[in-house]
Formats: sequence, structure tokens, C-alpha cells
Amino acid sequence: MSRNMLIAGNWKMNADAAQVDVFVKAVGDALDGAGLAADLLVCPPMVYIERMARALSGQPVAVGAQNIAAEVEPGAFTGEVNGAMLADCRASHVIVGHSERRALYGEADAIVATKADAAAAAGLVPIVCVGETLEQREAEQTEAVLAAQIDAILSQCRAATLESMIVAYEPIWAIGTGRSATPEQAQDVHAFLRAQIANRNATLAQSVQLLYGGSVKPDNAAALFAGADVDGALVGGASLTADSFLDIARAAV
Ligand code: PGA
Repeated sequence: MSRNMLIAGNWKMNADAAQVDVFVKAVGDALDGAGLAADLLVCPPMVYIERMARALSGQPVAVGAQNIAAEVEPGAFTGEVNGAMLADCRASHVIVGHSERRALYGEADAIVATKADAAAAAGLVPIVCVGETLEQREAEQTEAVLAAQIDAILSQCRAATLESMIVAYEPIWAIGTGRSATPEQAQDVHAFLRAQIANRNATLAQSVQLLYGGSVKPDNAAALFAGADVDGALVGGASLTADSFLDIARAAV
């Protein structure tokens, strides 16, 4: 089965309204409404989602969120934003289980699964992140750690969530460090993840998009994308400027 490539930008807690405007102008000028081979997605801070989505209307670039409330129904959840609200702001995707949220905000596998379900319930595509620490890799625990993370999703999420989800493999030691996984390391882990998914659902394993994330740059993107099980990238720092984001996207053919 041929899977589309997706280049997704994760802006984290960066940029301001002026930078959003500069980015969308540059992307609009470069694409001029024409798509690339890869699908494109940008996830700015939540307060800029609607601004970015409106400015990009007519361009082949989707806009997503970096977080979502675990609760689906509105209610007394101060500070939270549910999936329906994100969809109202024109978000189409949401990142869940990013290692920064797991490490800094205590989001364990169960809440990641709940948030993925909440996203899918609102019609948003969940991008579920998994990844090991450097200590775990050096202790040869990479596969055990990833199996536990992906199995939590496969066993806890609703079938409809699994069918709509995207999975991003982001080794924690590669995030923001300038030290990307090698193409071989990325491909090996993606093949492992696809096999784990196939243990539960062979059809899903063939269709699910597996993104690599962690220091993806214009100069290493093509080699990473050569992996048969690498279906695109989740890009942090290099997604903040239109030039490098689009150069990475152009490497996906
Ligand atoms: P990076 O971040 O590309 O800056 O390493 C990736 C991510 O955290 O999604």
C-alpha cells in the first residue's frame, strides 16, 4: 500500500503573531496554491491556530494543535481546550504524547490514549508520539519501551481512533539536539513499530503513517525519507521558518 508523505511542523511554545504572518506569507508565495508531493501541516501555539488557518486558506497546508483536553464535553476545566473548540478554530490534527508533555506535564500512556480518543471524537487526526531516552537506547531497551508505548495506544484507544491516527517516532535524545537518528536507526524503529501494530491489526499496520521526528533538517531529510517505513517527519526547530520547512517538504517525494 502506498502511503502519503506528511511533513508536520511542531512550533512548540515559539513565535508570535508577527512571525505567524511572515511564515504564512512566505509559504503562500512559495506554493501559490499548488501542492507538493508531501502533505503539509503546521502546529503553532494554540492561540495562533485560527489566525494561521485563515491566512493559509487556499493553500495546501493544514493547521493543527500541540495539545488537547482529555475531556470531550464542555465543563468546569479551567485552562483546557477541547477538541470541538480546536476544530472550531480550523485545526485538523493534534499532537498527543509528545515527550515534552510526557516529561514536563506528567502525561503517561493512559492520558495519551485518552487524548487521542478525544481528538478522534472531535474529528481531529491524533499524531501520537513515542520515543526512548538515551539511557534506554544505550541499555538496549528501545524496543521494549516503544512496544509498551504503542501497545498502550493499541489496547486503550477506540478502533476509530486507531484508524485515523498517525504515529511519530521521536527519540528523545534527538529532539532539539542537532543529533538526528541515522536513517538506518529510524527505519529499523519504524519497521519495528509497524510490526507491533501488525500484531494487532495487519491492515492498520499497512495504512498507518509513521513520521520520524528529532533534529530533522533540510540536509538530512532526504536520507531519512528513503526508509521504506518512514512516511514523513515531525519537525520542531526547522519548521519555524518557511524556507527550511519547505526544503524539508521538498525532500519528500
Ligand atoms: P526538533 O523537534 O526537530 O527541534 O528536534 C522535534 C519535535 O520535538 O517534535
